[in-house]
Amino acid sequence: MKNHAFPCPNCNNPLEMDIDALLLGRVIECTDCHSSMKLTKDHINSVADALKSKTSVSKKK
Ligand SMILES: [Zn+2]
Repeated sequence: MKNHAFPCPNCNNPLEMDIDALLLGRVIECTDCHSSMKLTKDHINSVADALKSKTSVSKKK
C-alpha cells in the first residue's frame, strides 16, 4: 500500500491517493469539495521522486 497525501488545489483539503493509480494518470476526486483533478506529469514525477527518496525502493515501470 503506497499512499501519499497532497492538498487539494481548490480547498486545501489533504487528499490521500494511490500512487500507482496516479502514475497511470487516473483522475481523483476531492472528498471535501468534490472537484475532479488530474495531476500533471511533472507533478506526478515530483511525487514519485519524493516517495522514492523516502522509501528508497527502486521500481522500474
Ligand atoms: Zn477540494
